[in-house]
Amino acid sequence: MDTFDQQHIWHAYAKTPSPNANYKVLSADGVYLNLAGDKRVIDGMSSWWSAIHGYNHPVLNKAITTQLAKMAHVMFGGLTHDPAIRLAKTLIEITPDNLTQVFFTDSGSVAVESALKMALQYWHNKGQIDKQKFVTIRGGYHGDTFGAMSVCDPDNGMHHLFSGVLPQHYFVKSPALAPMDEALADLEATLKQHSKNIAAMILEPVVQNAGGMRIYNPQYLTKAKALCKAHDVLFILDEIATGFGRTGELFAFEYTEVEPDILCLGKALTGGYMTLAATLTSVKISSGVGTLMHGPTFMANPLACSVANASIELLLKSNWQDNVARIEQHFHAQLAPLKQHVKVADVRILGAIGIVEMVDEIDAESVQDFLIEQGVWLRPYGKLLYTMPPFTISEQALLTITNAIQLVVNT
Ligand code: PMP
Repeated sequence: MDTFDQQHIWHAYAKTPSPNANYKVLSADGVYLNLAGDKRVIDGMSSWWSAIHGYNHPVLNKAITTQLAKMAHVMFGGLTHDPAIRLAKTLIEITPDNLTQVFFTDSGSVAVESALKMALQYWHNKGQIDKQKFVTIRGGYHGDTFGAMSVCDPDNGMHHLFSGVLPQHYFVKSPALAPMDEALADLEATLKQHSKNIAAMILEPVVQNAGGMRIYNPQYLTKAKALCKAHDVLFILDEIATGFGRTGELFAFEYTEVEPDILCLGKALTGGYMTLAATLTSVKISSGVGTLMHGPTFMANPLACSVANASIELLLKSNWQDNVARIEQHFHAQLAPLKQHVKVADVRILGAIGIVEMVDEIDAESVQDFLIEQGVWLRPYGKLLYTMPPFTISEQALLTITNAIQLVVNT
């Protein structure tokens, strides 16, 4: 335990000084985090969805060191470089045909900000200056910056803390919380009444992540896109958490036939090595946008682009579909039966995502300490105990995670 850390450093969604100490990680390899005090734990979180190949991977390490010998960073205004060009080509190749224009940013939240900005600038340049609002489904999460926050769930997001500052948008029923027809009818009614003020719809495809870890019928996406199109509203998909194989498809929108107008990618884009995100759109939208008024200092960082190139190549060459299917089967065998438990409200599984929703709030600190004793790193929040391990995880290590979850439920 590091008292300086506890006294002075602000961690994610935390207080400073902190009432609780953070576990110190000395190194990480494969699916393991090596903690101070000689404790080795299996990372069931993939560092918030991102470390899909595990840690300290020789191929990913080499991509960074090779690029480092050339240059760590250059500005991306007036200059370009091969790692970014190669990555843009790959992203265009593996995403729907209409998406041919790529904007690199340095985090998922900023990818969302730029997506929202693209939509606003597009309509503004078309003379539709009243289209300044967004519509989204409840239960979503899109990041912590102000634009992104304004389209997070209005109840469990941070709206109440920033009311009066956050712009007001339209929230419609989520297909994960209401029957799909009801959710679509709500969207249609909102579009009918307000589409003259709505620039775009934004949502996470198939799995709503940090806003409540809920899964919904992919058909909603096809129907929602059709409604948006009919009402001249752009369709933005946020694949930041779900992209790069996590749900069992390379991208979650591949569960159905839908082409987003704008797509946000991040997290596992670099195999969890470095911070990088991308917002893709069509030439129709980009030409409508004109000059995009955005340009972060560290956009398209060459080290990050290099490791992203290596990570995507590694993923596509691997048998990731088999691995994700194997993890899903394991969750069905080991977690699904917990649904019968009196303390469990629901169990949800898709691809390499396993979610146990408890009836009561979880005491996150004590459950986390208990899980560490079991050799497992998970970060429960609210009523949710969930895991999304690296795809490379062994059966044995998976069993350690699911046994630990069972123990938490049973004690
Ligand atoms: N969108 C989604 C769907 C996310 O899950 C997240 C991160 N949890 C973000 C956006 C924001 O990404 P970042 O934390 O890299 O800013």
